[in-house]
Amino acid sequence: MLKNTIFMLLSVLIVSYSVEAQMVSPYQVGTWSGFRTCAISYTFDDGCANQFTKAIPLFDEAGFKLTLFTVTGWTTNWANLQNAAAKGHEVANHTATHPNLSTLTVDKQKVELETSNSLINSKVSFQKSLTMATPYCAEGNDPLAAQYFLAVRGCQGFIEPKTPGSFMNVSSVICGNLGSVFKVKEFKSKADQAATSKGWLVYLIHGIDNDGGYSPLASDTLKSSLKYLKENDGKFWVNTFGNVARYIKERNCVSVTETLATETDISLALTDTLHNNEWYNYPLTIRRSLPSGWISASVTQNGKLVNSSVLEVNSVKYLQFDAVPDGGSIVISKAAATGQNELKGSSEQTKFKVWTDRKTIFFTVPSTCLPNPTVSLFSSNGMLVDSFNDCQIDGEIGKVSMVRLPKSGAFVVRLNDKRSSWSSQIILL
Ligand SMILES: [Zn+2]
Repeated sequence: MLKNTIFMLLSVLIVSYSVEAQMVSPYQVGTWSGFRTCAISYTFDDGCANQFTKAIPLFDEAGFKLTLFTVTGWTTNWANLQNAAAKGHEVANHTATHPNLSTLTVDKQKVELETSNSLINSKVSFQKSLTMATPYCAEGNDPLAAQYFLAVRGCQGFIEPKTPGSFMNVSSVICGNLGSVFKVKEFKSKADQAATSKGWLVYLIHGIDNDGGYSPLASDTLKSSLKYLKENDGKFWVNTFGNVARYIKERNCVSVTETLATETDISLALTDTLHNNEWYNYPLTIRRSLPSGWISASVTQNGKLVNSSVLEVNSVKYLQFDAVPDGGSIVISKAAATGQNELKGSSEQTKFKVWTDRKTIFFTVPSTCLPNPTVSLFSSNGMLVDSFNDCQIDGEIGKVSMVRLPKSGAFVVRLNDKRSSWSSQIILL
């Protein structure tokens, strides 16, 4: 019965498309998160000491996430891995004993993958081990690996296109003094190549400075490479190996359907054909042309506010937002002015904190915020009270003077960096 209904719905869709074939869908899905040009993943193998003491702090400072491929049968510092996972870094499988998988029977490979996965999953919370790097980049049994992993990393040395030829042997580029990327200018040029090809660049790093790891890379070089990516944040999407793989697979089979549209609300279904929604839960970036007469909008998924912003591309105003396929219904609501509908709160929003000493409004600057953001204040009925393009930012704290502002009332303070916005309410008594 369900099948029949789906078939009928499909028929209706096909008919309506053939009738209105000239209509262009108002929705676009970003090839990469935030409609950036390319994706870059930094992966670290073998648990070399300075990956924890030097690399992770650099990534945390830049607001980027990395992947740690750990060998569970070696001396593994689980506290370090747990701390990394708590900050959103990926902890994943590099087998139990680091064998050359291509020389093992399928049964023995299975033991390597399962032993490592179950140890990681029992010791590290907040995430699951769902990707692997093969030791010595030697490809094992792909159908076996596909039962456990959404992607497996090799090291063929090329930049992957926007969809890799095989997710069971994703290419990476070896870094350090024995690799092809060692100096700052080589990192920049490799990143630029990824942008030109609009593809996915995966770095493979072992030792850092003098920790004794294979093919060491200077931490200063790593730092400079991150700085370059951060400065060009609109171009480079830096995220874990697993999250980029999720994004690619989801965007390649996603569909967007409007289920209801009124003057003030649009409901839509974002679905994909991937069956394992526990594996594939990463938000895709979607754009929709802003309906005429709308100035701004807020977007919720399952009733929770999601990242959204209004931006202009080639003189067309778009609403851009992040949502998870098969992650629940999405509602786009017209906002009288920017900000008003954003009081519902979400985990991302609660990270944005606002407070005042009555002379100055202070706020936390999210790590992903681009330079030169705008701060706007809205009254409780959504009217713009004042807007500041010149806020002072000192590290994680920003501030604007309250000289021009009313002395009492409830206000929404909104921080906007042209890509994302964060808002929070303050009440002045
Ligand atoms: Zn290794």
